[in-house]
Amino acid sequence: MPIKMVMETEPKRVFMNVTANQCPGCPENLATRLVMHIAFDHLAKQDPIIFGQGCGIGRDFLQRSGLGTHDSGIVGLLTAMQVRDIDRPIVVIDGDGQVDIGLEDLATAFQQGYKYLHVVCDNQAHAASGSHATGSTQPLARTSVRPAGKLRHPKHFPLMLMHSGAEYVATASTSHPQDLERKIKAACDRLPAFIQILTPCNPSWGYDDHKGVEVSRLAVESGMWPLYEWKDGVFARQNIPRKATVKEYAASQRRYAHLTEDDLKLMEGYVGDLDSTLGKLQKGFSG
Ligand code: SF4
Repeated sequence: MPIKMVMETEPKRVFMNVTANQCPGCPENLATRLVMHIAFDHLAKQDPIIFGQGCGIGRDFLQRSGLGTHDSGIVGLLTAMQVRDIDRPIVVIDGDGQVDIGLEDLATAFQQGYKYLHVVCDNQAHAASGSHATGSTQPLARTSVRPAGKLRHPKHFPLMLMHSGAEYVATASTSHPQDLERKIKAACDRLPAFIQILTPCNPSWGYDDHKGVEVSRLAVESGMWPLYEWKDGVFARQNIPRKATVKEYAASQRRYAHLTEDDLKLMEGYVGDLDSTLGKLQKGFSG
């Protein structure tokens, strides 16, 4: 078989956060690269602007604003572009800490109809500054400020934004890349849009560097991270078979090492509550 010379192979665009010094195998870095790849390809003809900031997303090269200010920054940018008659789509990628702090800006920008896609890589911790809890930290997970965890339901950002002017919201996971790709494309075509991607964090969650996707898959398959979307007035859960238990999900990470059998029952109760809420939404918004 003839060997293909490098010059004969088709050129391909490669997206990398080369300056961010992420941990090896950082799931946030993987998610960021996937989002950039899909969004740049899907919006290629419209010359998109993609920026952001987060622990595994890019702490310097992509960093263009302060904590929690991305959405107000985008409002200013969109206004300036409108004045100059520039029409280019904007995608921002940041972390759950950013959204937690900037939730008011985000909800108001959506409510006022500013059209952009906001993607959150959710590692459930302020990982760049000591791994303390955020509003999306799962119940009973150990963080640097909650060594014994806390039985507190997280904020569900997509559900909040569904009622704040979003045209599209969804959850996603890098363990299900085709679903992720479909959702990024659907979001790009329905602005304002919001997607929350589960991105475990190696040191904050406590698993081996190569197991990020495996931990994400366990989260989805145990019901701890349900995949759903709100699109064109219809709320739908993705039909993922429950192949894993909450116990197996918890056993994959040291942030749950302190859990007792009773704690596990509480976590199963949390999954049951979430199932029930999402089931009601699916029934109520079935189109
Ligand atoms: S601390 Fe977590 S989010 Fe930050 S680079 Fe490492 S794995 Fe990624």
